[in-house]
Amino acid sequence: MSGISRRNFVKASAAVIASAGISGCAGSLNLNFNKQQEQVILPKSGKRVVVLGGGWGGTTAAKYVKLGDPSIEVVLVERLDNFVSCPMSNLVLSGMKSLQEITFTYDALVKNYGIKIIKTEAAGLDAAAKQLITAAGRIEYDKLIVSPGVEFMYDKIEGWSKDAEDVFPHAYKAGRQTTLLREQLVNLNNGENVLLTVPLAPYRCPPGPYERACQIAFYLKNNKKGSKLIVIDANEDIASKGKLFHAAWDDYYKDVIEYVPDTAVKGVDVKSRVVKTTNGDFKGGAANIIPDMKAGSFAYKAGLLPETDRWVRVQAFTLESQALKDVFVLGDSTHAGTVGPVPKSGFVANSMGKVAAAAVVNQLNGKEPLKPNLVNTCYSMVNDREAIFISGVYDYDETTKLIISRGGGLSPERSELYAKHAEDWALSIWSDMLT
Ligand SMILES: Cc1cc2nc3c(=O)[nH]c(=O)nc-3n(C[C@H](O)[C@H](O)[C@H](O)COP(=O)(O)OP(=O)(O)OC[C@H]3O[C@@H](n4cnc5c(N)ncnc54)[C@H](O)[C@@H]3O)c2cc1C
Repeated sequence: MSGISRRNFVKASAAVIASAGISGCAGSLNLNFNKQQEQVILPKSGKRVVVLGGGWGGTTAAKYVKLGDPSIEVVLVERLDNFVSCPMSNLVLSGMKSLQEITFTYDALVKNYGIKIIKTEAAGLDAAAKQLITAAGRIEYDKLIVSPGVEFMYDKIEGWSKDAEDVFPHAYKAGRQTTLLREQLVNLNNGENVLLTVPLAPYRCPPGPYERACQIAFYLKNNKKGSKLIVIDANEDIASKGKLFHAAWDDYYKDVIEYVPDTAVKGVDVKSRVVKTTNGDFKGGAANIIPDMKAGSFAYKAGLLPETDRWVRVQAFTLESQALKDVFVLGDSTHAGTVGPVPKSGFVANSMGKVAAAAVVNQLNGKEPLKPNLVNTCYSMVNDREAIFISGVYDYDETTKLIISRGGGLSPERSELYAKHAEDWALSIWSDMLT
C-alpha cells in the first residue's frame, strides 16, 4: 500500500472494528458513526474505484478494473482475512476436501495489481459526498462497486436465538459454519438422522442444497450405519437439476435420503434441537437449516433498497444501482427482476464483476459502456466420483432491457469426466478472481 504500511493499517483497522460498536440498523440511514468513522482515510488524489466485498463479485471487479485501466486506484474493502470458497465447500462436509484447500489469501491482488485491501467492516454510505463509511474511517470514491452477498432472514424463524446458528449451522457462507456442520456429522451416532432444510427459491446457488444432500448422504452411507438424511424442502420439488438429482438419489441413496417437499421451516426449539415445520416437528442428531435469504445487510445500510425489499434493483446494462448514482451492485444481492433471469451463482457474480468493471472503466474514461453478457456453469458432485452440471449463456436484450438466456441446459447424465471438469472449473475461476 502506498503511503501507509498495510500490516499496520490492518492491525489498526482490526482494533477499530473491535471497538466500533456499529449501530446502523438495516434500512436506516440514521447511523451513529463514531469519531474514527467520520475521518477520511487514504485521501484520494486521482481516479478511484472502491469495491465493497472480497467475494466472487468483488474480487473479480477489483482485478478487472485494474486490468482495464491500471492508472485507476482500486481499494477493496473486506471484513474477513481470507477468501473461503462456497463452491466446493459441500465436499468438506463429506470429508473429500479440507477447508484449507478452499481458503485463499488476497495477497496476489495486492502484489500483482497494486489493489489496496482494507480489512474492515463497511457500515454505511454517504452517497452525496461519495464516501464509503467503514469502521476504520471514510473512503472517498469516484465509483463504488458493491458485492456484499446475502444475509439470512432469521427473524422469520420463531424461537431463533443467538446460539441457534451453532446448533443448526447454515454452512451457507463457507468457513467456521462449514466446520461446525462437518463436526456434527462426524459426531453423529449410528442410526441418528440428519436434517437439511432448503429455503424457497430464490436463494444463493439453487443446486447447492441438493449437492449437499448427495454429499451428506454419501458420508452417512459409508460411515453411519442406519442413519438417514431428511431433506425438508420449502419448494414443491428440487429447485435445480431436478431430473439428475432425483436419478442420483434413486440410484445411490434410496435407503438414505427421505425427501419431504413443499415443507417450510416455521420455528425451532434450540434446547430440544427440534425443527418446527409446516408439516410437523422434526428432530435430528445433526441439523442444517439453510434459511431464507435477502441482500447483504450493507445494501440496506447504504440505502440501496428499502427494508421491505429483498434484492437490490439495478440497471441491467451496467449494473448501476437504480437508487444511487455511481454505485454498482453485483452478485447474489441483485434483483433478478431487474437484471434478468440469471441464477445467484459464483460464476454469474464473477461475470457481473467483469461487466461492472468494464462499465466503470469506460465511464471514468469518457467512453460508452459495453453491451454486457454473462455466463454460468454450475457443477454438482453427486458422490465422490461423478458430477452433473447446468450451464447458460446470457446477453443484453434491447427490447426487454434485461440480460436474458441465449442457450444452455443440463448435462445429459452424470459422469466422472464432469467431475474432473468441476475441479478444473474451480481452479481456473479461483485463479481468475484472486491471482
Ligand atoms: C454450498 C454452496 C455451494 C455453491 N456452489 C457453487 C458452484 O458450484 N458454482 C457457483 O457458481 N456458485 C456456487 N455457489 C454460490 C456462490 O458462492 C455465490 O453465488 C457467490 O458467493 C456470490 O458472490 P457475491 O460476491 O455476491 O457474494 P460473496 O461471495 O458472499 O461475497 C461477499 C463478500 O462481502 C463481504 N462483506 C459483506 N458485507 C460486508 C461489510 N459490511 N463489510 C465488509 N465486508 C463485507 C463478505 O465478507 C464476503 O467476503 C455456492 C454457494 C454455496 C453456499
